[in-house]
Amino acid sequence: MIDILIKNGIIIDGTGSKAYYGNIGIKKDKIILDKQLHEDHSHIVIDASGKIVAPGFIDIHSHHDLYIVDQDPVQRFSSFVLQGVTTSVVGNCGWAMAPCLPKYKSMVLELIQSMSVPVKQFYWESMKEYLSYIQRNSLMCNIAQLAAHGPIRISVMGDENRFCTDKELKQMKKLLRECMDAGCVGFSTGLMYYPGMYAHTDELIELAKVAGEYGRPYASHLRGYCTTLPFSITEAVTIAEKANVPLQISHLHSLPFLGWISNVLPYFFTIIEAINSVIPLPGVPNPTLDKGLEIINKAIDKGIDVGMDAVPYTMGNTTITALFPPWVNRGGRNKLLERLKDPEVRKKIKKQIETVIPQWPHWEEDSWSDPHIRAIGWKPVKVLSVRSDRNRWTEGKSFVEIAKVWKTDPFDALCRLTLEEEGEVTYIYGYPAKPWLEKMFNKMLLHPMMSIGADSILPAYKEGTPPASAYGCFPRFIGHYSRELRLFPLEEAIRRITGLAASRYKLENRGIIKHNAFADIVIFDPNEINEQFTDDGKPASSTGIVHVFINGKHIVENANLKKGIMPGRVLKA
Ligand SMILES: [Zn+2]
Repeated sequence: MIDILIKNGIIIDGTGSKAYYGNIGIKKDKIILDKQLHEDHSHIVIDASGKIVAPGFIDIHSHHDLYIVDQDPVQRFSSFVLQGVTTSVVGNCGWAMAPCLPKYKSMVLELIQSMSVPVKQFYWESMKEYLSYIQRNSLMCNIAQLAAHGPIRISVMGDENRFCTDKELKQMKKLLRECMDAGCVGFSTGLMYYPGMYAHTDELIELAKVAGEYGRPYASHLRGYCTTLPFSITEAVTIAEKANVPLQISHLHSLPFLGWISNVLPYFFTIIEAINSVIPLPGVPNPTLDKGLEIINKAIDKGIDVGMDAVPYTMGNTTITALFPPWVNRGGRNKLLERLKDPEVRKKIKKQIETVIPQWPHWEEDSWSDPHIRAIGWKPVKVLSVRSDRNRWTEGKSFVEIAKVWKTDPFDALCRLTLEEEGEVTYIYGYPAKPWLEKMFNKMLLHPMMSIGADSILPAYKEGTPPASAYGCFPRFIGHYSRELRLFPLEEAIRRITGLAASRYKLENRGIIKHNAFADIVIFDPNEINEQFTDDGKPASSTGIVHVFINGKHIVENANLKKGIMPGRVLKA
């Protein structure tokens, strides 16, 4: 006997192979593939006629570890499970909740809190203790954890803005080794941010070698995605080559450096999108991204194992602190708020935000590789979520609009909101996805080594607005890019978010429909699947996801979340 029979489905197994009609069974937490499977042998039968039966989706670029502790797991996880996510790879961009050794524990906590994360304290010191803590405290989906550079460096060096010494490097390697021994599936860095920005390439090569000892990849939020992108990719490839590890380039995209043009760009876009709707135009030229892809392809040709991921949107989201120069963030959120209160320091920050030229490799105190406002202007930078109800009206507005209400300039509006909300603000940047603009990123998405991640930075409190990816990343990827734009066949779209993602982090028996693999399964309607929004533009539950199973547990049934089930596991290397 088996527990569940899923009959008459169109099975897409996650390897890229052609879809086929068939039945699959679930027994305990495993998939049963057997030609003899029959309804009489099963307690429960689900008719999947006309539906796709696929492996559960793997969110390869997640920050969900920031939202597990001290928070309501159902509120934090459900929008992901309802879009078919069964595993999240967390610890990306050099941020993780462990390790945090006593000497600098408060600094590691500050680092995490500066991501608008309302965690009050850490109940652990080591990665091992942390992973057992979260496993005990309710996981709605599976978690694969990356060891992260930020907490490791701070645990050894505090907030020092310099290269490490040999002794410090040795201590960092020891901590990283402990993380890998605890079951981490790779090692991540966030080189655009404090404290990763202060690390020399040699430090990163030495640390990546430790991940290499375990046969695990090096994943990097690059030093810069603006004009600095090609240098940043070259650095990542060099680290992978010298340390002999697989490389995972995080959320590949490119940010143009527009200066004054940014002010007229929205008008230009309106005109060109109108023309494109009548006569389809070629895509936007994107020489920086093209150059980056060329470097990646050369590295692959050379035999270096390079993978990457992207967020399938034309806009990004992150915490407000990323709008300030890196030195302003040094020491964490409270230090940032103190600096913003000082009129002299504020003058210096304003000048830098308005005049900076991206620099490589930005190791100096004042340098900055990814200045969003200088790159794309004030208008396309909009508040996504705030903490307090009194400032709720700012959500969805640009700092230009907020400044008008407050009768000040956009910079002062940015500082005032940051101070009033004590840094717990997230923002969204870029231009909304329109057919012509989207073509800019299609070439990148077509790369066979490109996986998909939601990269959602959630609002600090449940009243805030989450990014669209928190609700619709994977349904959009399938519904929009495969069904509507026909960028690739459904089998290939599924491979990118299942088999490919699992193989990057060696998640054994995940991301695939085969006999005895873990029963992480999504059943969806290929004609219905897509993201959705409410009338006022906020993300809403996606359509088309009918059933989700995690480790054999039926967590989404007929598009409804079943309450009280916590089937997730920590997937250890
Ligand atoms: Zn990142």
